[in-house]
Amino acid sequence: MAVNGDKKSPEFFPKAGTAAVIVAHPDDETLWAGGTMLMHPETKWTIITLCRKSDADRAPKFFRVVKEYGAAGFMGDLDDSPDANKKPLDGKLVKRTIMDLLPEKSFDVIITHSISGEYTRHLRHEETGSAVLELWREGELSAGRVFTFAYEDGLMQYLPRAIEGADLFTQLPAKVWRKKYEIITSLYGFGKDSFEARTTPGQEAFWLKNKTGNTGSKKESGQ
Ligand SMILES: [Zn+2]
Repeated sequence: MAVNGDKKSPEFFPKAGTAAVIVAHPDDETLWAGGTMLMHPETKWTIITLCRKSDADRAPKFFRVVKEYGAAGFMGDLDDSPDANKKPLDGKLVKRTIMDLLPEKSFDVIITHSISGEYTRHLRHEETGSAVLELWREGELSAGRVFTFAYEDGLMQYLPRAIEGADLFTQLPAKVWRKKYEIITSLYGFGKDSFEARTTPGQEAFWLKNKTGNTGSKKESGQ
């Protein structure tokens, strides 16, 4: 399913369909899928973030961003302390948090983190992706299609970038990228020199998942 470019795969987001974006942190939805959401306003988007509900700064910003996408948004409060990377969460807790936050359990499309993350490295990203895939494979969540973010940073050699060989690869129109950048810098307030602002990818890419655990492309497991 080497479909390159959104226009060539109109089946990716069925018109007026529903899609859930399930991420670890407020800002991940924008960094990795913001352009895709902006390009599909006909889709009914639901965004959930598993961390930062009690973050007095980031939480209100998330809800402003959600509004910008015309989406429904919900936040959880899983541990995201500075040393969270060294403290794996109980997988059952991650799964229960996702189920509690999602208002519906069935979507045309679900998008989440890659089980190998988007850069080197944030454990919460990997845990979120794994939990979503397990819930889907166990039948707790239902989706016509499940995609995971397809980004890599060359083991920290460069900022995270979309993987061109992924199942879906979209070059964002300049206007869409600018809007995405504005959400990161103005609404979330990340400075121009921040990791987030400098990263804001101009291309977005996704792996199409299947229930057997293979990605369809061999490359994801190597990332
Ligand atoms: Zn994150």
